Amino acid sequence: MERLSMEDIRRLADEAAIDIPERVRRFAPVVGVRYGRITIRNQKSKWGSCSSRGNLNFNCLLMLAPPSVRDYVVVHELCHLIELNHSKRFWNLVAGVLPDYRKEEKWLKTQGMLIMRRMTG
Ligand SMILES: [Zn+2]
Repeated sequence: MERLSMEDIRRLADEAAIDIPERVRRFAPVVGVRYGRITIRNQKSKWGSCSSRGNLNFNCLLMLAPPSVRDYVVVHELCHLIELNHSKRFWNLVAGVLPDYRKEEKWLKTQGMLIMRRMTG
């Protein structure tokens, strides 16, 4: 797949700055959490992360993933605001919101890796 140019990445970041916070706003009440700041980053290793203060970071490359995968990454990080680990309790929370989450997880592990590789630098 083609490498992403700086311009591509800037465009994806602009799109993500609108798309991702909308998903966070939609799912936060479903998960039952309050969150802090939302930051869009371009990274080669992570799709999302969160801090103990409730701030959320998301990768702009998510805009190259299907909407259902974006939902999953958002829900994943929101559930970390309750369970800051990958315990069975954590996955039960995720499954409670998105019963089909394993499909999205699998997509990230296969197709998602190919997207990450398109990042230059
Ligand atoms: Zn996680």
